[in-house]
Amino acid sequence: IDSDQQRIKLAVLGAPGVGKSSIIRQFVNQEFNAEYIPTERKHVYLPSVIINDHLYELKIIDCPYIPYFPVNSLYEWTDFRGYGLRNATAYILVYDITSEESFQYIKNIRDQILESRDMHDVPLFVVGNKHDLSDERGISRREVASMVKKHWKCGYIECSAKCNWHVVLLFKELMKTIDHIDYGH
Ligand code: GDP
Ligand code: MG
Repeated sequence: IDSDQQRIKLAVLGAPGVGKSSIIRQFVNQEFNAEYIPTERKHVYLPSVIINDHLYELKIIDCPYIPYFPVNSLYEWTDFRGYGLRNATAYILVYDITSEESFQYIKNIRDQILESRDMHDVPLFVVGNKHDLSDERGISRREVASMVKKHWKCGYIECSAKCNWHVVLLFKELMKTIDHIDYGH
């Protein structure tokens, strides 16, 4: 019985244009579109996938642009709730490796998530997309990796939605961190 509540809810967040929709579509539909079509409204994908020899019913939420509002502002809660993000099983924070600014954006989003819910045992997973453009890298991989792993204590991977490189691996690694959680039921 395929109850929606049993699905593992993954919220994909990041600045506009970093490749959130592309990563999801590559993973779910094995397709890539070079044209940029901004995500105007929330999209929900409900794939059933076998990862690490285990069948997962996923609910992947592709969000439109969520402006960063200062913590404790009125908007913060409505946005977070409006997109059904408060009870996500895990958050995938995507930045574009050619854009330092897009990394700052996920730093802010992370602060916002941390202020909005008890994050005990809620995995964050940081994804540096557009690895195929590594000649135009705007932020050092080592810098991000050490900061994310040491200070944020969460998973980190670089991928390319365009080349379908490390996209499946990203979900494999993420599900490993989710499997370590004891949900208490
Ligand atoms: P979103 O706003 O975060 O959902 O970003 P999109 O998935 O719509 O992608 C924004 C633009 O970046 C589109 O033109 C995509 O074709 C392009 N894009 C996405 N992923 C990659 C990638 O891995 N490499 C390159 N070179 N372009 C990408
Ligand atoms: Mg999008």
